[in-house]
Amino acid sequence: MTFVMSAPLVEFRNVSFAYEEEIVLRDVSLTVARGQVVAIMGGSGSGKTTLLKLIGGQIRPDSGEVLVDGENVGNLGERDLYRLRRKLGMLFQFGALFTDLSVFDNVAFPLRERTNLPESMIRDLVLMKLQAVGLRGAARLMPAELSGGMARRVALARAIALDPRVMLYDEPFTGLDPISLATTGKLIRELNDALGTASIVVTHDVAESLALVDYIYFLADGVVVAQGSPDEVRASEHPFVRQFINAEPDGPVPFHKPAAPYAADLGLEAANG
Ligand code: ADP
Repeated sequence: MTFVMSAPLVEFRNVSFAYEEEIVLRDVSLTVARGQVVAIMGGSGSGKTTLLKLIGGQIRPDSGEVLVDGENVGNLGERDLYRLRRKLGMLFQFGALFTDLSVFDNVAFPLRERTNLPESMIRDLVLMKLQAVGLRGAARLMPAELSGGMARRVALARAIALDPRVMLYDEPFTGLDPISLATTGKLIRELNDALGTASIVVTHDVAESLALVDYIYFLADGVVVAQGSPDEVRASEHPFVRQFINAEPDGPVPFHKPAAPYAADLGLEAANG
């Protein structure tokens, strides 16, 4: 697929970031353009979640610049950040739904919270988003009645409710059976193409990523150690990449560090409903 070259929707220019003493990202540069699906790969503790937090403006770079849709996130005040986050659609591992709300009301939530649209228009938008994820018939169901794969698609419909420009997926393949895995990957691709968004998929799932994305950045201990198209990455001689690609699909990933505890409070989900 070819895209007209346009300004990147997400750009990191020589970004470094440290929590206290620990440098977590070191001189990271990347660009993600409209129409692209890009994977950020790396083991646990390599800095992937930190990268997402920088995009959402929850943290600011110590040096370098993070640009989202041309705006320097590190320089924005709270008000502008709130506005900017509307451009981000976020999907976490289990895209937690409100269990006491129907599928319809889950998807309507961000529209009711963040717009003044009349209910009749909200209804049309919700059904359109549910249609986009293949669940138009499920509007009346409650979350407890959904399969894992369906619940994730509802979360996806909710994440696109406000027409984001950038989709952020944090480990979208974790805990899925093989069929849901394949549909989720396809859906990420199809939605990105249909909505004209840019998508960033943070994952350590090699097989799905190689099949799905346009470009891959490999992070190891906060440094981009390899980058390229799936074919380039497959052919890479870099020891880190080789180790990663050759790792058992369900086996332990290299570079063990304790999983970050804060993913759930990244804050973007709330911003999007
Ligand atoms: P990943 O998402 O790739 O697992 P993270 O970005 O979560 O990696 O974490 C990178 C490093 O930063 C880890 O060593 C982690 O322990 C550390 N870290 C993450 N969040 C914090 C925090 N709030 N305070 C201090 N250190 C943190």
